[in-house]
Amino acid sequence: MRITFSSGTSWRRCQQLYYYEYIEGLKPKQEFAPPLQLGRVVHRYLESFYGALISKRKTPIKPSTRHANALMRIDHEFTEPTRQLAVAAQVAGEDELGKELLGLVPKAARLCQAYFELRGGSDEHRVLLCEEYVKFPLTDKDEVVAVIDLVTQDEAGNAWIWEHKTTKNVPMQGRRLRDLQTILGAVLLEEVHGVKPAGVIWNYFRTQEPAEPRLLKDGTLSRAKQDTTWKAYERALATHQLDHADYKEMYHLLADKEEKVFFPRMQMQLFQSEAVLLRDLISTCGEIRAAVSDPGFVPVRNIGQNCDWCRYNKVCEAALLGGDEAELKRMLFVAKGVRDGYSAD
Ligand code: SF4
Repeated sequence: MRITFSSGTSWRRCQQLYYYEYIEGLKPKQEFAPPLQLGRVVHRYLESFYGALISKRKTPIKPSTRHANALMRIDHEFTEPTRQLAVAAQVAGEDELGKELLGLVPKAARLCQAYFELRGGSDEHRVLLCEEYVKFPLTDKDEVVAVIDLVTQDEAGNAWIWEHKTTKNVPMQGRRLRDLQTILGAVLLEEVHGVKPAGVIWNYFRTQEPAEPRLLKDGTLSRAKQDTTWKAYERALATHQLDHADYKEMYHLLADKEEKVFFPRMQMQLFQSEAVLLRDLISTCGEIRAAVSDPGFVPVRNIGQNCDWCRYNKVCEAALLGGDEAELKRMLFVAKGVRDGYSAD
């Protein structure tokens, strides 16, 4: 049987969720959630931008060319599908959602542009792998698969595993310590490619754009504490024809916000125990295999807070309240069959 970190987590959260997602393979016909969509677009940009560095070309592709190509790729892949989603949302009376979706690819392009201006110019690491699919046997019956965002090597020869994260606000260190998916990637990297990473680099992309500085009644720009960058502040100074020299203290306050708040990179050594991580996966895998191979298996619903964010909650509700579960499945989902998180081979 094959397990992924996500499928194992789904099983532990709710067997019914796992069943819908991995055994029936129900995929939403339309995935509206803008944060999810934005994350996908940004991820594709980064894949294209860094992936071009492992091409076999003798002359490396210039960063500006990789950036332009990556922007073209996201435009080509996402503009039309997102527009169709926006129209569907508007037809369903969700005007605000429709507007947000229409602005999603341009917003992603602005974020990628800002990222490139800050981070894209210099390649201080050599790219070893990008979007690498790895699989590893857990036991003679089970295997685990994962996709690693990026692996690089620094000037001292140390390998680093990267995790690209899009987020409204950068989480505290504790969340990174508990990010077992990345740790699993590191374990698999060593097992499959023989590369032992020195640690993880969390490459954050904050999806909250810098706030527009406020113009006060007296014609000056607000000097209050604000969630913005010096670039945005400078633009506002230019728009209102104000003198930079009068705002030196704002420069000192905002100069490093892009690097520290909007696109921070957090580097951490690996401390977590891979033995415990693999033991948990093996145990979950065995549990799933035993359960689903039983002809009398009935998935248990773990009703609780999980249900608020669950993409199957309408279907689940119909099953619980005597509605037409099968019809809702047909309306909202495409059945893709057994997915990667579970296969009985
Ligand atoms: S709505 Fe709740 S009970 Fe139903 S599948 Fe989702 S998490 Fe499980």
